[in-house]
Amino acid sequence: MSARILEGRPIAEALRTRLKRQAIGFQRRAGRPATIAVLHVGTDDASLVYARAIERTALQLGLESRAVELPAQAQESDLVRALVRLSDDRGVDGILVQLPLPRHLSQRTIAEMMDPRKDVDGISVTSVGNLFLRQQSLVPSTPAAVVSLLDHYRVPLSGKRVVIVGASNVVGKPLAFLLLQRDATVTVCHIATRDLAMWTQQAEVLVVAVGKPHLIHADMVRPGATVIDVGINTLPDRSIVGDVDFETVREVAGAITPVPGGIGQLTNIMVLRQTLLAALLQLRELV
Ligand code: NAD
Repeated sequence: MSARILEGRPIAEALRTRLKRQAIGFQRRAGRPATIAVLHVGTDDASLVYARAIERTALQLGLESRAVELPAQAQESDLVRALVRLSDDRGVDGILVQLPLPRHLSQRTIAEMMDPRKDVDGISVTSVGNLFLRQQSLVPSTPAAVVSLLDHYRVPLSGKRVVIVGASNVVGKPLAFLLLQRDATVTVCHIATRDLAMWTQQAEVLVVAVGKPHLIHADMVRPGATVIDVGINTLPDRSIVGDVDFETVREVAGAITPVPGGIGQLTNIMVLRQTLLAALLQLRELV
């Protein structure tokens, strides 16, 4: 039997409606739209495309988006200055720094210099600590999208065996903590994991975030499992695929996200949802 397809679109649409309402409410109270600053260093095409996409979605939802560009040769001190300026700017509610940074700049600087109240992608030291400690926190957008999708399709998590393939700071690791908060039994696999299939075959929920097309094939998946494919890979023919061999795995899994059309539909909206949340929390601090 073929798996149920877990599309991102219906969740994105429901969120858009809710966020538009919240954006109007914020604007009424604050006298200005909620605002995200998207900071990027250099002129990497992919990150410019992403910045434009955020800008477009922000406009559609009634938020404002400001692009802040630093040249590729910017130094650590320039990055710090930009972060301090945006952190101090009362007209900016959320800051998103586009990653990866050029090699000569340290991500640690952002984690330490970012105002945690504006950290809409949950990368600051404070946000990471809050997530670890189960405190309310702004969390990275992609893991937040995975949890929203699982909730929307009512996939049970408590007591379930969840295997995450990929242990990055932006996807795998924060997702592990979010799912621990839901009382799942979480295993995280990575490049050094031996016998990957032995782990993935045990998963009732399998999340894959690696960046390798066709890494996961049908015989690595437990029959009936829910499979969430976070990977986005561009093939030589320019087509986009995930990390999961969709056509064969859909014959084994109980439910599966498509690529494109799954998690990728939600990431931008999650960033803007967090911007509104950050904006509302900061507004509350002022009254
Ligand atoms: P990353 O390169 O930072 O991390 C990759 C992780 O995969 C690492 O932990 C590494 O140890 C692990 N890994 C690599 N090869 C492996 C293997 N053969 N077996 C098991 N584990 C292996 O990547 P990232 O930033 O976490 O992104 C992962 C993927 O998710 C990419 O395809 C990226 O484009 C995609 N992504 C999608 C969205 C979205 O909105 N859908 C958002 C962010 C990232």
